Amino acid sequence: MKFWDEKIETMPIKDLKELQLKRLKKVVKMAYDNNAIYREKFKKAGITPEDIKTLDDMSKIPFLTKEELRNYYPFGLLCVEMDDVVEIHASSGTTGKPVVGTYTKNDLEVWAEVMARSLWANGLRKSDIMQNSYGYGLFTGAHGFEKGAQKIGATVIPISSGNTKRQINIMKDFGSTALAATPSYALYMAEVAKEMGYEPKEDFKLHLGLFGAEAWSEEMRKKIEDEWGIVAHEHYGLTEIIGPGVVSECEEKHLHINADHFLAEVIDPATGERIEEGEGELVFTTLTKEAFPAIRFRTRDIASYSEEPCECGRTLPIQSRIKGRSDDMMKVKGVIVFPSQIEEAIMRVEGVSGNYQLVKKKVHGMPTLHVRVEPTEERYKEGYLDDLEEKIEEEIYSILNLHIPVEIVPPFTIPRSEGKAKRIVEEN
Ligand SMILES: [Zn+2]
Repeated sequence: MKFWDEKIETMPIKDLKELQLKRLKKVVKMAYDNNAIYREKFKKAGITPEDIKTLDDMSKIPFLTKEELRNYYPFGLLCVEMDDVVEIHASSGTTGKPVVGTYTKNDLEVWAEVMARSLWANGLRKSDIMQNSYGYGLFTGAHGFEKGAQKIGATVIPISSGNTKRQINIMKDFGSTALAATPSYALYMAEVAKEMGYEPKEDFKLHLGLFGAEAWSEEMRKKIEDEWGIVAHEHYGLTEIIGPGVVSECEEKHLHINADHFLAEVIDPATGERIEEGEGELVFTTLTKEAFPAIRFRTRDIASYSEEPCECGRTLPIQSRIKGRSDDMMKVKGVIVFPSQIEEAIMRVEGVSGNYQLVKKKVHGMPTLHVRVEPTEERYKEGYLDDLEEKIEEEIYSILNLHIPVEIVPPFTIPRSEGKAKRIVEEN
């Protein structure tokens, strides 16, 4: 069985759009009828649900922003009675009030379904043992992976993140075949496994990596696949939409949007106009969520969108890898720089470990940026570190056309992360 839900995954795009329109009309009406804030937003824009007759009519609907979600914290956008909510999640809220995700029974079923579909496309099967090393708690990550894997019938080890030596022991003893974690944590786990005397590629049964929750480059993917001897897949999702399960990869490593539940648009972040081709800010509308439907939510994530058919046979639209959150975007000497581009450059050079930091500093009051890179132990012992610096600087220049200084630091000096890696640091 190649597909989890063949009918949906291979539906002609025309039929998919019909389904999207039918569901869009329903969700818009539901939000308008049941929630005063949504109703007010629609009225201000001079529209009623009856004005949505085609998918293009969507552009009349005002965007929903992160700031609004914070203003209506925690339950302002709830569209059902609190009695019908059966689970609540929230983002960490490191940059302000957390974003709250509420779920009805039916929302949880949809979540399990889209996660099962995604994990199935990644190659997860009933026979797999999935070590779930995303942090359990209010964060959606671990729970989404658990629900999907169990729907497939795979075994879940809910180990959560942290206590890395124990992770390695459990992976060995329980025979984990799939690892769900942030990519940076997966890389760190390989490092710890080696310290413990294991060869990650040979001494474990792991064959599948289910990674997400941070922007990472293709080069980082190759590095992790190589370290562990696995196939690594990318997952993309947001608490505001449902959690993980919004977008995930097929065997061709193309990111398919679960577009029967989540409608994607790409806009110019400056004007809000829809872009038909090329990169822009992703905007998502949940088509089936009951408790908290997000209508035209601006993600601040930069990617492109395509309806070209995929070699895998799926007709679900394809989204490019996230270049970065527009929040992480930096302007260096007038050039727009995403941390993932610098990561790509670093990882092209032989002898680097995958641990790096972008250091923002003020020198004589002027903001500067440099890159701190850790080589592998072997490369560090070889010496000639100036050569390594120079090579990385050249790769960065070839991608960004910018000279950004590189500082080589001894192995194991950059702090490791057990969750989302902190790539950008500010120092004084
Ligand atoms: Zn595909």
